[in-house]
Amino acid sequence: MARCNSNHNLIVHHIKRDGGNSLNNAEVLCSVCYSNYTTVSNPGPGEPIAHDGPSPPPFSQQTINEALTRAHNRCECERLTCLNH
Ligand SMILES: [Zn+2]
Ligand SMILES: [Zn+2]
Repeated sequence: MARCNSNHNLIVHHIKRDGGNSLNNAEVLCSVCYSNYTTVSNPGPGEPIAHDGPSPPPFSQQTINEALTRAHNRCECERLTCLNH
């Protein structure tokens, strides 16, 4: 399955909620993939997840920048279940 590669409304999100805020726990998603992803396991973008412990620590601006650079400012989503691509 092809990668999404969208460059619109990119969000750096935590791959694992308990995985910390380092670069290897960061994934760049466009807003559509992010909402597709979050509707599977989360209530929705920006909403707290009551059943899953505390929210992960936010990424630093440097980590966000590094994640975006690593992703070439494009969505990294390759999920087979994602309907966006
Ligand atoms: Zn995407
Ligand atoms: Zn996707």
